[in-house]
Amino acid sequence: LEFEIDGVVVKVDDGELQRRLGVVGRDPRWAIAWKFPPTTKITTLLDIQWNPGKFGDLHPFAVLEPVHVGGVTVKLATLHNEEDLARKDLRVGDEVIVLRAGDVIPQVVSPAPHAVERKGRAKPPLPPANCPVCDTPTIKPEGHVFTKCPNRDCPGRRWQLMRHFVGRGALDIDGLGEKQVSALMDAGLVTDAADFYALTPEQLIELEGMGEISANRIVAAIAASRERPFARVLFGLGIEGVGEVTGRSLAQRFRSIDALLAATPEDIEATPGIGPIVAALIAGQLADERMRDLIERLRKAGLQLEEEGPPPGDGPLSGKTFVLTGTLPDLTREQATERIVAAGGRVTSSISKKTDYLVAGESPGSKLEKAERLSVAVLDEAGLLELLGAS
Ligand code: ZN
Repeated sequence: LEFEIDGVVVKVDDGELQRRLGVVGRDPRWAIAWKFPPTTKITTLLDIQWNPGKFGDLHPFAVLEPVHVGGVTVKLATLHNEEDLARKDLRVGDEVIVLRAGDVIPQVVSPAPHAVERKGRAKPPLPPANCPVCDTPTIKPEGHVFTKCPNRDCPGRRWQLMRHFVGRGALDIDGLGEKQVSALMDAGLVTDAADFYALTPEQLIELEGMGEISANRIVAAIAASRERPFARVLFGLGIEGVGEVTGRSLAQRFRSIDALLAATPEDIEATPGIGPIVAALIAGQLADERMRDLIERLRKAGLQLEEEGPPPGDGPLSGKTFVLTGTLPDLTREQATERIVAAGGRVTSSISKKTDYLVAGESPGSKLEKAERLSVAVLDEAGLLELLGAS
């Protein structure tokens, strides 16, 4: 049996002192929880490998001598990107410090202090000359910080795009995880997101390890995803520069895919939270023939390509821009956003002078400091509910 302790509670044991210290809300002032710092271990870096992301950027990851950290055995760890890798000065063969905090993906922090003094260290690792998935020669576009696989048919890139489409925040299709997407690709059943909508239970049953019940369930989940709102479809398309929040802002502003497809970069730039560079990047991708073809096939498949409900500006919070940060006591970020939007407000991802309110929950981070610096009004959840209720 093995177990780990992740913290202790320190208490004042004198009853009289406890009484004098008192209680704030539900928390006694005479007891404090103290968490141990995140767990780190030292192990050997066996190799650095690379994977193409949705847009072809090659992401490095570490292959490690298996090590027990924070209750699990870690064999792979993220290295984020090329710059992060160079900054950490890691070499294959080094002993390295691995960190695993909570449920976060394990990461390699740095070489162990003694590792950098070792004689005969390997050369600094470089991105591969050819894509590790499709073998296309890689490129590093001018002004770009990351090396890319330029092949748009790269199975690695396509897998990432499809996995993003079915994932959380996008179409959120139950039962379709990374493994199933790989199996469907290997069977030649899908090459892009629109192909999911033509799948039949009979085709799915052919996949290894897939029973009739799961096959039917997945086909039903795919069918149900036709009801996901336009903003999530927009996010799911996999457009560089369109995250969850930007997807929502674009959906609110343009109301339909057709209006967005007709928009100029200047129109797109007028969307809250989008600057000129990202606007041009988005417009360029939307003008692309393949993107248009994917959108048309998703339209034929019956997905939501229009925004429902009243246009922004019609509600009591019309014209007001909100930014959310930290964890709210009751509402999820999604729920808070929906309520603000339903009242006619907008939600953006970054604070600027144009922001009207920052809604801050627990552990708000740097956005709160920035809001204070820019004199943006700060609300807690109760303040937000009051604004929604009073309005
Ligand atoms: Zn490739």
